[in-house]
Amino acid sequence: TERTLILVKPDGVRRGLVGEVLRRVEAKGYTLLAVELRTADEALLAEHYAEHEGKPFFRPLVDFMASGPVLAVVAEGERVIEGFRVIAGATDPTTAAPGSIRGDLGRDWGLAVTQNLVHGSDSPESAEREIKLWFPGL
Ligand code: ATP
Repeated sequence: TERTLILVKPDGVRRGLVGEVLRRVEAKGYTLLAVELRTADEALLAEHYAEHEGKPFFRPLVDFMASGPVLAVVAEGERVIEGFRVIAGATDPTTAAPGSIRGDLGRDWGLAVTQNLVHGSDSPESAEREIKLWFPGL
C-alpha cells in the first residue's frame, strides 16, 4: 500500500474547504493517517518546494503558502498518490476538469501564484520525503 501527503493550501482553508477536501478523500475510500492544521514556516516550505527554487514563482509561492494555516494530511491506500492527483485535477484551476477539486472549486484570481487549493505528492519518492518533512514522527 502507499501513502501520500496532501495539503489544503491557505486559500482552501480561508475559503472553508477543509471539510470538502477531506470528504472527497474519505468518500473515495482512502484512509486518513494524520491531519494537522498549522502555519508552516519558510524553512519547511522552501524544503517542500526545493525543486522549484530559482523559478520566478518560487518566492510568491513560499509567501503564499506561509500566509495562513494549511491542513496537512497523510492518506493511505493502493495508488493513493495517483488517485489524489486525479481528485485534485490539473494544476491550473481554470482548465482543471469539472469533478475535480480544482475544477469544481478553483479559479484564476489573477495573482503571481497559482492558488489551486490543494497539493498532493507526485511520486512515491516525493511522498516519503514530504511526509518526513511535515510529520517527522510518522
Ligand atoms: P502540487 O505539487 O501543489 O500538487 P502541481 O504538481 O500541480 O501542484 P507544481 O508544478 O509542482 O504543480 O507546482 C507547485 C505549485 O506551484 C502549484 O501547485 C502552483 O501553486 C504553483 N505554480 C506552479 N506553476 C506556476 C506558475 N507557472 N505560476 C505561478 N504558480 C505556479
